[in-house]
Amino acid sequence: MPVYLDHAATTPISAPALAALTSALGRSGNPSSLHGAGRRARATVEQSRETIARAAGAHPTEVVFTSGGTEADNLAVKGLFWARRAADPRRTRILVSTVEHAAVQDTVEWLAHHEGAEAVWLPVDETGTVSLDALSRELDDGGADSVALVTCMWANNEVGTVEPVAEVVALAAAHGIPVHSDAVQAFGSVPVNFKDSGLAAMSVSGHKIGGPVGVGALLLGRDVTLTPVQHGGGQERKVRSGTLDTAGIAAFAAAAADVTANLAAESRRIAGLRDAVIAGVGRVVPEAVLRGVDPAVNPGGRLPGNAHFTFPGCEGDSLLFLLDMAGIESSTGSACTAGVPRPSHVLLAMGLDEETARGAQRFSLGHTSSQADVDAFVAALPQAHARAKQAGMAGHVSSIQTASTR
Ligand code: PLP
Repeated sequence: MPVYLDHAATTPISAPALAALTSALGRSGNPSSLHGAGRRARATVEQSRETIARAAGAHPTEVVFTSGGTEADNLAVKGLFWARRAADPRRTRILVSTVEHAAVQDTVEWLAHHEGAEAVWLPVDETGTVSLDALSRELDDGGADSVALVTCMWANNEVGTVEPVAEVVALAAAHGIPVHSDAVQAFGSVPVNFKDSGLAAMSVSGHKIGGPVGVGALLLGRDVTLTPVQHGGGQERKVRSGTLDTAGIAAFAAAAADVTANLAAESRRIAGLRDAVIAGVGRVVPEAVLRGVDPAVNPGGRLPGNAHFTFPGCEGDSLLFLLDMAGIESSTGSACTAGVPRPSHVLLAMGLDEETARGAQRFSLGHTSSQADVDAFVAALPQAHARAKQAGMAGHVSSIQTASTR
């Protein structure tokens, strides 16, 4: 069995979620139908809504089911932008961190290209933490009246940095500006409470917490107005249309209940494994550089399951491929376009040069991870690293394939 170190991409479905999914898949009924089958499906959806609300510290009416994190991000950012600008046409600026996932970043860019939004990219420091000074300046000097929304992720998917969301909300709240946060990586990994956060909207996703792929939610404050992105039956508070995925929602709720019930103990266990990964990499490849927050310095500043390094002189894709051949499944952490490795926008925003950024590799742990996984990974790394370094930065798969036949 390969060692799976890519839980941040998707984590295996948990036992309670799988049981809920298979049981609900065997029943039919549209939750909007009025007959018995429909009412039973509706009861499953509403119980699941309550469970997810409890897990996220929200009121059930604040849970808007979506097809996942990407849709929740699109709905929040476009919906808030359109609604706020409709209420006051001066509100065209979107204050957004430079390290957002593509689901937020590309949505903001789309609004800038097609809808007259002005994207204001907030810088981060070398750990990937957003600058509160820059946010304050934009609010105070740049004119708060022209801001439609602020969006800042709860935790970064590449380097695992936990962002100062409470401070962001406090600064924006002083001007009555709504804040959206993409909590897809944070929810189920660190304590997340929607009500206490003061956020207007917050995105979560099923498959990052042990639920199935294709279901998620936008937590949306009861008094927050959104313009819908997709139109149809208006099933979810009239802001999200589409027949609800009863089985997916039931499984998402089972995963959320499971993960939040064990959060403190499980995040301690996973953080211990992460620290063993960091120590192991430091021992076998001393030139590797940990990126993001050092958990030894600031334990709460990094997601428990995230270890991210740059390996000087290596192409991230080469290392990924060689580790995969050795039975270790990892990630460069960022997307590539048509097989062409692109340096991560997150690492560039943190001040890395392109060549350094191209040597990135993310190892992410989750509920199935064990010390044996860490040991197997640390044992396999030196050879994979040596061969990746030999292939250098020249190109990836072709030079590796040559190297691998040596
Ligand atoms: N936001 C973040 C921070 C993510 O890590 C991801 C998934 O990688 C998403 C959004 C997208 O979520 P989904 O895969 O549910 O569309």
